[in-house]
Parts: sequence; structure tokens; C-alpha cells
Amino acid sequence: MATATFRFYEELNDFLPSTRRKIAFTVDCAESATVKQAIEALGVPHTEIEIILVNGESVNFSRRVEAGDRISVYPVFESLDVRPILRLREEPLRDPRFVADAHLGRLARYLRMLGFDTLYENALPDRELVRISCTERRILLTRDRELLMHRELAHGVYVRGERPREQMSYVLRRMDLRRSCRPFTRCMSCNGELEPADREVVVDSVPPRVAERHREFRYCPGCARVYWRGSHYDRMMKLIDHVLEDG
Ligand SMILES: [Zn+2]
Repeated sequence: MATATFRFYEELNDFLPSTRRKIAFTVDCAESATVKQAIEALGVPHTEIEIILVNGESVNFSRRVEAGDRISVYPVFESLDVRPILRLREEPLRDPRFVADAHLGRLARYLRMLGFDTLYENALPDRELVRISCTERRILLTRDRELLMHRELAHGVYVRGERPREQMSYVLRRMDLRRSCRPFTRCMSCNGELEPADREVVVDSVPPRVAERHREFRYCPGCARVYWRGSHYDRMMKLIDHVLEDG
């Protein structure tokens, strides 16, 4: 058994009991535990971690904990440039795609609204979510920290915030996605990519008033839903502006 001292930084403290927040504390780690195992045993999922320093030097997850180690743990923040220090995983996924767990349906719809490819079905078991994340290289979005501790999982985000708007704002900031938004290019309902549609083609699928007043339509080949820039669109644009201004 190795006794080591840990200090967690910034938002990683939220995963710790109050007596261990923002201070250095000493714990006994399991026999030949890796730093990843030791950190997860303290309640912090590996997907939330960007940098680990042991005795002042950056290490990767597989480093074994040794007696007397002083271990500092820093959160993921894609918008932070920490390149001189060893990152724990390869470059962040560019043009990121997501898979959201069963509790994040509203967030999934919002991300689709902003143009991000987001898989969501409300009955996928945990193991299937992890499998999809790994094989399709999708970032797993969840508020279940146990799920983020799955060994195979490489890319996940513990989604902060209770309300879908806060959650969307958090994901955009954490992944540095605010400049990558392409609103109204994806179907909020089925995640399909929208295509421009001629008015003549959709005229029978929309209310007569809409067909009269609007010239520009988009169509989802996946579920046949038709989109136009109505009052719903205006509300959505306001919400997007609000979120993009945040932070
Ligand atoms: Zn659709």
C-alpha cells in the first residue's frame, strides 16, 4: 500500500466530499494502483482529467502510485492551451460528434439545433453507450459519473448544470465549440442533415399560412420534417445568441 498526497484543481473539486476540496490530502492507495485507478477511487472520472503532475512532472494514467508521491490533478478545458505539458490523450476530437445518455434528451435536441451530430435514444443501456462512443468516436455526454469510469471509454463529458440551457452552454465552453456552431443544418428530431427544399415540394406538408409567408424551407430526409424560419426559429436564434454570449 502506498500513501500519497492528492490535490485536485478547479471544477474537479465538485466530485470530492467537502472535507477534501481545494486542499492537499493524504490517502492510502490500493496495492500497485495506477494514478488513474487511485483518482477514480476518490470519485473523479478519468474523462474529466487533462493533466496529472506527480512530484511536479506530468505523467500519464498508467503511472503507478509510489509511497510519498504528491499528485496534482487538473481538469479538461479544451480552450486552455497547455501544449508544453503532456496531455493525457491525443488532440481533442475536431468536428466533434456526441452520444447523449437517456437523461439528456433536451440537451441532445439543442446540440442538433446548433448543427452538432448528436445520437440520442432514450433506452440505450450503459454498455451500449460506451460501445457507441468508442466505435464511432463520439463524445459521451452524461451526468452519471460511474458511466464515465468505464475503462474503455476515451472521450466523455460530465455535463454540468440542471437546466438544458446551462448544459448546452457548459458543453460549448468546455469543448470550445462556440465558433463551430452551424444552426439549422440538422434535424432536432432525428439528427438527420437538413437539405434545402423548394416551396412547391413542401407546400402540402406545412400549414397554408406558412406556405404563404415563407420562401425558404429545409427538409429532413430522415423523418420528412419540414423547417422554416417562423416564430420558433426566432426564439431559437435568441436562445443561441444568449448561449454564445455567455462566458
Ligand atoms: Zn429528421
